[in-house]
This record gives sequence, structure tokens and C-alpha cells, in this order.
Amino acid sequence: MALPDNESLELVLDAKALLGEGPHWSEEDQQLYWVDILSKCVHIYDPQRHENQTIIVDQLISSVVVRSSGGLVITTEKGIQFLDIETETLTPIDDPESTQPGNRFNDGKCDPSGRFWAGTMDFDGAAATGSLYMLHKDLSIKTMKNHVTVSNGITWSPDYRVMYYVDSPTKNIVAFDYDNQTGHIKNERIVVTIPEGEGIPDGLTSDSEGNLWVAQWGGSMISKWNPVTGKRLDVIPVPATHVTSCAFGGPHLDELYITTARTDLDEHARASQPHAGGLFKLKTAVKGIPTFKFKG
Ligand code: CA
Repeated sequence: MALPDNESLELVLDAKALLGEGPHWSEEDQQLYWVDILSKCVHIYDPQRHENQTIIVDQLISSVVVRSSGGLVITTEKGIQFLDIETETLTPIDDPESTQPGNRFNDGKCDPSGRFWAGTMDFDGAAATGSLYMLHKDLSIKTMKNHVTVSNGITWSPDYRVMYYVDSPTKNIVAFDYDNQTGHIKNERIVVTIPEGEGIPDGLTSDSEGNLWVAQWGGSMISKWNPVTGKRLDVIPVPATHVTSCAFGGPHLDELYITTARTDLDEHARASQPHAGGLFKLKTAVKGIPTFKFKG
């Protein structure tokens, strides 16, 4: 698969990540934080200098967010932790599933109030033993949803009244009524279903018009959906079978960063997808919602 005939999709970093994931744009330093879960590292990409700094965490780091008081919050198979970028020191916050060795953390994101949401998954993605958690700013943790198989993308509507969530094997994106004051969610309903033969939904984000941009694992695409009508508005082909997540970034929040994976491809697929595992960027006509920091 060559790069598609889509002038606005750019390969910004031929990273060859095994499992590139969790893009998080930091407005303050204008850098993209992202992870490679299977290579156990966090990457910090500076688009202006075109430099990518890598910190080896030596755990299955599955998500990263910036903490407003400095440093990062990350998730791994050992729970939620602080990561000091200067010293590369990890400090545990909580491990709600320390008695479930068959599970690990997966995707996570901060809500508009600065609480951190992250979910877990069965290592094999087969059993509904995972949960979705919310870390309050006082570092207390609350279980928000049980019986999740592969907890994945989370995002909010631009008015913060709706939270969207993906449990990948269901192929659905669900919505909840969202209370930004308390973090309370209710009234779960399906708003989007990924069509048969297009893989499964993975990470996702929202734009300022309220539409969803969804990475399709096994689907070689980012797709744009109207969650009110459930209709697909656009498809952006990506030259990698496994498209894992996306986040808006750039000085004007109109550049969609896209992560991809090289894992789970056979020799033939790897040869025909030389840029699988790369970090891509798509110039968009619409702005994204900002990425929120952890305020604890
Ligand atoms: Ca994911």
C-alpha cells in the first residue's frame, strides 16, 4: 500500500512503532505526546524542530496526559502513575486491578474539568473483565463502568454535555449524558456502529462542530461521523491496516495527528505497508476540541 492520493495526509514520522497509540497535543509546549505500548515507551514529538524524544518506561504504557502542575500521568499494566520527564522517575498513583493479572490498562484521556479517565482490558481482548475508571483531582479513583472487554477511545462533545466511549469488540461508539461538574455519566446509548468488514473502532476525538473522528483498527482509515444522525460524513484512507487513534493539534488545532501500528501484520503485509507504525498528520478544514490536562 503506497501513500494515498491525498495531498493533505502527511507521514510526519516514519516511527515504525509496534503499537503507536494515545496522541495527546499539549497547547502549552506545542508538542505531541504519544506512546508505543509494545515498545514500552512514550514519545514527545516537536513538529517545529521535527524532533522526537523517546523515554523508555519499561512497562506497557498505554496512555499519556500532561499534568498541569508539571510532568505526565500515564497508564500501564501496573496502574496509573506519574512520570517525571526530567528524571524519568515513575510514582504510582493507584492500581485498581492489582488482583487481576490478566488485565492491563489501555486508552485514557482527561475530561474538560481535568479529571483523568482510563479503562482496562483483558490481555487477549476476549473476556469482559475490564472497567472504565475516573481519577479525581484529589487522586481518588472511581469505577464508572464494568464488563468492558477492550476499553478504548474517549472524547467529549464541544459543549461538554456528552461523553463518547468505545469498547472496541462491540464495534459501537456509545454516548452518555455527561455532567462536567461531577463527572457523572448516565443514559448510555449507541450512536455509531462501524460497518462489517471495516475492523473495529479504536481511539477517537471530537471536532468543534461536534463530529467524531474515529481510528479504525483493521480498517485502514480514519472515519468522520455525525453522532446525532449516526451517519458517516467522510473517510480518510491511511496506508496502514491498523489505525489506532487520533488527536487534533497544531497552532490552530486543525491538524489531526494519527497513530498506527505495525504489530499483528504478517510478513507480506509489513512489506506492502512500509509506513505502518508511522505518525501521520491530516490538515483539516475544521478545528478540533483541545486536549485537556490533568489538574490533580
Ligand atoms: Ca487503543
